[in-house]
Amino acid sequence: MALTGMEIFKLLPKTNCRECGLPTCIAFAMSLSAGKIELSACPFISDEDKEKLAQTDAPPVAIVSIGNNKKPLKVGGESVMFRHEKRFNNPTALATLVTDTMDDSQVDAGLQRFCKLRYRRLGINLQADLVAIKNEAADAQKFVGLIEKVKAGSDAKLILMSEDPDVMSMGLQCCAEQKPLIYAATRDNAERMTALSMEHSCPLAVKADGLEELIDISTRLMDAGVKEIVLDSGARTLRQAFADQVHIRRASVHANIKPLGFPTITFPCEMAQNLSMETLIASQFISKYAGIVVLSDLQGESLFPLLLERMELFSDPQEPYMAPEGVYEIGNPDRNAPVLLASAWALTYYNLTLAAETSRTPVFLCIERLEEPDIMCWCHHCLRSTQKGKFNAASTIQFIEKCKLEERVDHKKLVISARNAEFKAELENALPEWEIFVGPGEAALLHGFLPEFANSL
Ligand code: SF4
Repeated sequence: MALTGMEIFKLLPKTNCRECGLPTCIAFAMSLSAGKIELSACPFISDEDKEKLAQTDAPPVAIVSIGNNKKPLKVGGESVMFRHEKRFNNPTALATLVTDTMDDSQVDAGLQRFCKLRYRRLGINLQADLVAIKNEAADAQKFVGLIEKVKAGSDAKLILMSEDPDVMSMGLQCCAEQKPLIYAATRDNAERMTALSMEHSCPLAVKADGLEELIDISTRLMDAGVKEIVLDSGARTLRQAFADQVHIRRASVHANIKPLGFPTITFPCEMAQNLSMETLIASQFISKYAGIVVLSDLQGESLFPLLLERMELFSDPQEPYMAPEGVYEIGNPDRNAPVLLASAWALTYYNLTLAAETSRTPVFLCIERLEEPDIMCWCHHCLRSTQKGKFNAASTIQFIEKCKLEERVDHKKLVISARNAEFKAELENALPEWEIFVGPGEAALLHGFLPEFANSL
């Protein structure tokens, strides 16, 4: 079990020397406990205490890496049941399924969607992560051919799915260097799958029939020296699979049951008859507590909401999202489109984007990263948004100049929120070439303002 902040503190030198970059040893202890600093940041801990403290670095749910060393995909590494206790670390990986009984056009279309359905939100790239390649045909060469096709047609990390060790061995011959996840060791083939996992240094999934058997097979793998294990309890009904996910997480986090201290893999693709139901089931497993979710296919309308859910759930609850500073084009604006100035709160960004889209008025959104982001907020949630004395005209001038708006628009009109009306004069003095317009107090009221303002430009 991870040590608490106070338990860590007892093992520190307590000199408050600040070498670690923190003001006190207690601050270091709390940060280490929260996973916000590395143990190596303090050079004065004895080797003996380092060994004791190393367990704080080892989360109850082990980290499993899939893919080669350059940029492996990490799953697991979790240490809490609920996000608000600390944070979730490694986002649930999303996989799409292809089988060697699909015809070429189906596989090609699936791979194209894997490569095409990629999004960028608040500076974060969102996409599916894995392709699960399943052996269903009697011919092992078809499995190998499919692996080659996926390798050539995508940059995906791989899951190889076959319970036949001979077929798996042939599959690994052509992609072991990519460190795929081997799925799966079962009661009957565990020894041979373990040998393949050890020979090729690939992570190994366990497929069991219930939690007891899962613990049994996982223990056998651990005893044989497999370090990276992924768990599948075998349940294929939502009720049972959901319960298993919760039991496995609780057993690892609260009872330190080592054979269950690994990330899980789930198969909504085998639990639903249609895309909507499959997406709903996948959504449940993202929130509780799957390491990998395998989908039968990727479609924008199902993948995008899952990616957004994942992004929100695996963010740090203590650090609200901020949009990267810059100029955002909302709705393909032309040179006469309105220009709005706002701070980088994600909520403000979303509200303004929504207002522009629903009022069908393309705009340029100038998002400035401010020390006090609520100073230029457009959302009614920020009660402090008109605090006086914190507005820094100098930084806003620099930001507007950096935006090079003259390359994008023919006018010099800038819209600020009514909450910032008191800064209008200050801004006009600082930006004499620009005319400052005061818009509504919050983004929700922009629907009426924006079209009219756009027509006046
Ligand atoms: S470097 Fe170590 S001894 Fe110095 S303040 Fe940080 S934790 Fe304490």
